[in-house]
Amino acid sequence: MTRPLTKAELRVILEEVAAEIRPRVGEGAVAAYIPELAKVDPSKFGMAVTTLDGAVVAVGDADEPFSIQSVSKVFTLTLALGRVGDALWRRVGREPSGSPFNSIVQLEAEKGVPRNPLINAGAIVVADVLLAGREPKAALGEIVGFLRFLADEPDIVIDRDVARSETATGERNRALAHFMKAFGNLGHDVDKVLGVYFHQCAIAMSRRQLSRAGLFLADAGRDPTTGRAVVTAERARRVAALMMTCGHYDGSGDFAYRVGLPGKSGVGGGILCVAPGRGAIAVWSPCLNEKGNSLAGSLALEALARRTGWSVF
Ligand code: GLN
Repeated sequence: MTRPLTKAELRVILEEVAAEIRPRVGEGAVAAYIPELAKVDPSKFGMAVTTLDGAVVAVGDADEPFSIQSVSKVFTLTLALGRVGDALWRRVGREPSGSPFNSIVQLEAEKGVPRNPLINAGAIVVADVLLAGREPKAALGEIVGFLRFLADEPDIVIDRDVARSETATGERNRALAHFMKAFGNLGHDVDKVLGVYFHQCAIAMSRRQLSRAGLFLADAGRDPTTGRAVVTAERARRVAALMMTCGHYDGSGDFAYRVGLPGKSGVGGGILCVAPGRGAIAVWSPCLNEKGNSLAGSLALEALARRTGWSVF
């Protein structure tokens, strides 16, 4: 491993990346299928890196909250593995789907078992796991509480307008959930499971908070600032492996090829990326490419990885 970059060096790199990518911001389209997300300013762009010592280097307003959407799936997966361990893999697979995030096509042939926990169907099963023995409110309390703990900030909340907007328009997710329920792969009422899922997706976080929350994945499951274990090193490695292979849906191969780091995108335009032994990166730019991943965000991470040499390969 090369020596860690100084904060000053990292700041220069982030500014160069921002200058390189800014002309592309606004290309693509915001996620209009969730009406509340369609209102977001498409010209937004910024990134924050939290390094292993807990310091934050950022371009743009690192404190501006955005809808984390499917980035939440990394944290619910971590919680579900903590609850049921490897038993999770009886109900959800670990293979890339090669299909869009909201696809239903594989579910019939594969008997209601989603390909992986980072596509919508898989995350809905994970939400069902987190509901066991409690009401949606308590399950959501655990998810938000986990993020507050990881980010070390008490003011992370669910954006009620986004949750309402998604609940009002989420027929496709309802279809996925009912289909899996028909195969016996959901234990709870579809409405309750989707209540958890829609609200976890509607959590709003800033780039600073999100990069801080992902830091344990960059340091073998530990919070490097306190030395406390969040999960085992083995579990952190496995969550990161799923991010690498499945975190960008049918764009995961291309993201691995271009960036070479585990990452998870959301249709709010956020991406959380893990640079093992270095830090965690949160990028936000709302316009999406044709796979539903932040267009400028992906380009920025590619440029960052090129300039820093941060790649797991
Ligand atoms: N809440 C979104 C949905 O269910 C999450 C999808 C995503 O971020 N890719 O459609």
